[in-house]
Amino acid sequence: MTEIDPDVPVLVTGGSGYVASWIVRYLLEDGRTVRATVRDPKKPKGLDHLHKLSDEHPGRLTLHAADLLDQGSFAAAMDGCQLVIHTASPFLMGKLDDPQEQLVRPALEGTRNVLTSVNQTESVRRVVLTSSIVAIYGDNIDMRGKTCFTDADWNTTSTDSHQEYSYSKTVAEKEAWAMCGAQDRWDLVTVHPGLVFGPSLTTSSASGTMTTIGHFTDGSMTLGAPALEMGVVDVRDVARTHIAAAFTPTARGRYIATSGTVSLLDMGKILRSAFGKRRSFPNRELPKALVKIGGPATGMTRKFVDRNVGWPLRFDNSRTREELGVEFIAPETTVVDHFQQMIDDGQVKPR
Ligand code: NAP
Repeated sequence: MTEIDPDVPVLVTGGSGYVASWIVRYLLEDGRTVRATVRDPKKPKGLDHLHKLSDEHPGRLTLHAADLLDQGSFAAAMDGCQLVIHTASPFLMGKLDDPQEQLVRPALEGTRNVLTSVNQTESVRRVVLTSSIVAIYGDNIDMRGKTCFTDADWNTTSTDSHQEYSYSKTVAEKEAWAMCGAQDRWDLVTVHPGLVFGPSLTTSSASGTMTTIGHFTDGSMTLGAPALEMGVVDVRDVARTHIAAAFTPTARGRYIATSGTVSLLDMGKILRSAFGKRRSFPNRELPKALVKIGGPATGMTRKFVDRNVGWPLRFDNSRTREELGVEFIAPETTVVDHFQQMIDDGQVKPR
């Protein structure tokens, strides 16, 4: 049982990100005081939404400079906090020049740095870590022989040269559990979102979410989409899951946050029924052989296509619903709300 005093400031790492911004917003709306870390609190772009939240909740949101690769940089902001919500970690998709430096090192060393400061900060009682379903499974094909993935499963197939982002999340989470197990002052609860969609509070995020939704506007699926199933979730539910994981005294272990599984074609159909026909919304699935030929040019390796395209994917989120009381928004609503927000923000033409 871990009771968190609701009047003590909460630390949120990576506070400006797509997911974290909703966590910060809901914490403030719930009456909490929040310290959010960002790499550069003085940067002229990308923090407007946090400044606005700060104005709306006077005296309850402060920004603090911290970098995952800068040892000890989280310590000052953490001082006196009982709760640390650690979301900061790069989520980059597509072909990367140096996945080890761009993904694995910040995820792993960053988690180690944040938790080293937690070990040195006597006030901390609980850490909520944003992990991912990709720390639970590596490729869709890994579900062979099972009906679904549960929070007992671990990704055993990603490496530093295949599904590198998934690998970065897996090694970071493993490190977190190892560091938690080596002491008994603070406990660890991990949240495992599927691919997150839903309205963004910022237009500056470089999250893989934006890369994926961008494929529904950039014409890359005009001829059709790979038969790729994804576990998805609404960003607002991801934020609520973190907060429930933080303030539920009995919360423990790993919580899957998915509302369901949709394919790229399903998403195309949802978008078409809400926004009408557009060339950029796929209306058929491409044969796997064709995807395999074209894949490498778009950052999908042949191995990825082999092990993911055409394979079903399912998750068991029952413990999250039952123990944390989260009621997940349907994927249809999430996808429509996301696209509508892109129209409202002027990122996509209304017609
Ligand atoms: P995002 O908008 O790109 O946010 C990532 C955050 O990480 C940014 O706030 C960024 O901070 C911070 N960050 C990156 N490198 C950093 C570094 N070296 N030092 C300090 N901060 C650094 O992406 P997101 O989608 O919200 O992802 C947030 C978390 O959710 C990540 O842990 C991600 O793995 C996890 N997640 C995301 C999804 C999804 O579909 N989006 C699904 C499952 C899990 P700055 O603003 O200071 O650059």
